[in-house]
Amino acid sequence: MVSSVARIARQIQRLKSERKAVILSHNYQVGPIQDVADFVGDSLELSYKAAATDAEVIVFCGVHFMAETAAILCPTKTVLLPDRSAGCGMSEMISVEDVQALRALHPEAVVICYVNSSAAVKAKSDICCTSSNAAQVVQSIPEDQEIIFIPDQHLGAHVMQQTGRQMILYNGYCPSHVRMMASELSEIISVHPDAPVFAHPECTTPVHLLSDGIFSTSGICTAAQNSQATEIIVATESGILHRLSKENPDKTFIPACSWCDCAHMKVNTLEKVLWSLEEMQYAIVVDPEIAVQARQAIDRMMQMSTPEKEKCLAFMA
Ligand code: SF4
Repeated sequence: MVSSVARIARQIQRLKSERKAVILSHNYQVGPIQDVADFVGDSLELSYKAAATDAEVIVFCGVHFMAETAAILCPTKTVLLPDRSAGCGMSEMISVEDVQALRALHPEAVVICYVNSSAAVKAKSDICCTSSNAAQVVQSIPEDQEIIFIPDQHLGAHVMQQTGRQMILYNGYCPSHVRMMASELSEIISVHPDAPVFAHPECTTPVHLLSDGIFSTSGICTAAQNSQATEIIVATESGILHRLSKENPDKTFIPACSWCDCAHMKVNTLEKVLWSLEEMQYAIVVDPEIAVQARQAIDRMMQMSTPEKEKCLAFMA
C-alpha cells in the first residue's frame, strides 16, 4: 500500500513539472519536505541556487526573509512560501528605525546585515552576510572602518572572536538557539565524552566554548561527513538531524537540546507544499524600491569570492 507521504510526494512531483517549479528547502525543514526538495541547503546556498535556477516558480520551504531574498534575486520568477506565517523571531527584532538610529549614532560606520532580516532592513544596510561567510565579509571591510553588525549579537560576537575586529553589535538573537543551555550540553558531553560538538553561531558564547566546531548548517553537514567520530553532538535546530542521518547512516547524531525547535520553520508541512503548488500561494512580493536597495547589499555579498561561493557554484554546475 502506498503511504500518504509517498502519495503526496508523487502529486508534488507531478505539479512541480506542470508548473515548471523548483523546490528549495532549508536544512531546518521537516524530513518529508527535505526528501521532496530539489535542493536542501543553508541560506547562502539557497540564495545562489535561487539566483541560478531557470525554473519559473520557486517553492521556498523556509521562512519569510529567505523567500524575500529569493524574490529579490529573481524578480521575474514567482516565489511561493507554503505557509505565509513562517516568520523569524530574530528578523522581527530589528526595524528600519532601529538601523537609522544606529546610523545616526555612528554615521561613518559600515552596516553589515545578517541575512536573517527583512528586505526593508537589508535595504538600509551596506552589505549582507550569512553565517557561513560572515567572517569573510567582516574581513573585507578596511581595518580603520567602524562596523555595525545587525541583528544577531551571538553571530556578531563569534565573528569578533574569529577576526579580532571590534564591532558595534545590535542586541537581536534567535529565540530557538538561545534556548540551548551550556549546562544541558555539559551533561550530554559527560554521557558521550568522545563525541565532538558542532554548534551553530547563533548559539550563545557559553555553548560555543563547549564546542569543537562552529559552523553554518551546511558547514555542520560537511564537518560531520569529514569527522571520524561515530557519535556527534549537534547544537542547532533539530531539522538538520534528518539530513545528517541520511548522509551519514553509520553515525549517530545527538541533539544538544530536545526542545529548541524553530516554530516558524516547522509550520511548513508536506501538505502545505502541495497546496502551495496547487493554488500558487503564497506569492512573496517585495516593494520594488526596497528590492533595488536590498539587492545592492545582497549583491555585494554574493560577488565576494569565498570558498563557500566556489563550493556553491561547483554544487550547481
Ligand atoms: S531558527 Fe532562529 S533565526 Fe532561524 S528562522 Fe528560526 S527564529 Fe529565525
